[in-house]
Amino acid sequence: MADLTLDGVRKSFGDMPVLQSLDLAVPDGGFCVVVGPSGCGKSTLLRLVAGLEMADAGHILIGGRDVTRQPPKARSAAMVFQYYALLPHLSVARNIAFGMEIRGTPRAEITARVADTARILRLESLLDRKPRQLSGGQRQRVAMGRAIVRDPQVFLFDEPLSNLDAQLRAEMRAEIKALHGRLGATALYVTHDQIEAMTMGDILVVLNAGRVEQIGPPEEIYRCPASTFVARFIGAPP
Ligand code: ADP
Ligand code: MG
Repeated sequence: MADLTLDGVRKSFGDMPVLQSLDLAVPDGGFCVVVGPSGCGKSTLLRLVAGLEMADAGHILIGGRDVTRQPPKARSAAMVFQYYALLPHLSVARNIAFGMEIRGTPRAEITARVADTARILRLESLLDRKPRQLSGGQRQRVAMGRAIVRDPQVFLFDEPLSNLDAQLRAEMRAEIKALHGRLGATALYVTHDQIEAMTMGDILVVLNAGRVEQIGPPEEIYRCPASTFVARFIGAPP
């Protein structure tokens, strides 16, 4: 697996700066949670790492390799979306296989990788179902399957649990943590949920208007918030 480094990354849309000289280092196998108010650039950060947007300046490295100008498929980084991004008319197996089918991956390889992914996520008995025939947790596991099947070095989560109820969110938090441990991958996880911010990661980044307001172990940030903004945002005593 691989570490993830952002070095002086900037991104504007038109003349609106969205990320301003962002530095971030997630060690190999680390789990980094990113929080911040709506519109502060969290999704843009993930899209830059995935290669769905290009940085205006700075460098993005995965496993020491500079991928700043690489297309998404050359990056070994995969996004996990909310389950709403599943294709409703396709089976679980074909939802997981979709990206490989588009790229023309040989049929035998697709079959083998879908089987591996289904085993990792305990979806073996559900491969022929359509998304609407699944529970919310099962659907979210299929959404994760679409990323896992690519065997990426870096997983990028964009508020994956925000549409689940509290009970299911708690289950999926544990599930994602366990999966991260089993796969040994590096994770960048965006959320606006305070529980996820405090419990999921070993590094917490608080973003504010495209800048890192504070970065560190979550318990340290909770104990010593660097500003009233951070304290308010993570619900710590100021
Ligand atoms: P967050 O995920 O933290 O809510 P985003 O990264 O989605 O924030 O967006 C940050 C800012 O960039 C917002 O003001 C948003 O409107 C703007 N933005 C995001 N994507 C685009 C785009 N493709 N074109 C123009 N503006 C964008
Ligand atoms: Mg967002």
